[in-house]
Amino acid sequence: MARVFLGLGSNLGDGRANLDRALELISVRVGTLLAVSDYIGSEPWGFASEHRFTNAVCAVETGLGPMVLLDITQEIERQMGRTHKHAPGESYTDRIIDIDILSYDDVSMHNERLTLPHPLIDQRDFVKIPLQDCINKLST
Ligand code: ADP
Ligand code: MG
Repeated sequence: MARVFLGLGSNLGDGRANLDRALELISVRVGTLLAVSDYIGSEPWGFASEHRFTNAVCAVETGLGPMVLLDITQEIERQMGRTHKHAPGESYTDRIIDIDILSYDDVSMHNERLTLPHPLIDQRDFVKIPLQDCINKLST
């Protein structure tokens, strides 16, 4: 089993309800939820939008390998109605749900579809703050 941290974000519709739903689907399809951060609000990052984000981080124990985990989290995004994935070079867009794999145990890897740990964590307070909160909750 592996311990993974997933970053969740939503800026369309009811952000809190979207994160609730994503966490429910993660617990069914990915594995046992070990901890969930508080939900925070944040401004769109990397693109202009009038819609604010709701963000959270969860820790999950999973038997899925990294690539299958990516397949499943992308399936959950599609299942929740996310249609447009931006291609490299295109700008970011509004989204019902975004699920990023922040880390997978201590695995370090890079291929066309997956980079671990997620390279942009340090630049993003909306990831760093809930990640720290999630880690604190794991240890209490
Ligand atoms: P973003 O999360 O940057 O807003 P997307 O969710 O559209 O954008 O993801 C773009 C691509 O990033 C995905 O197609 C996925 O293959 C790739 N990717 C690379 N590393 C990761 C990771 N650690 N977690 C999630 N997606 C990743
Ligand atoms: Mg993503």
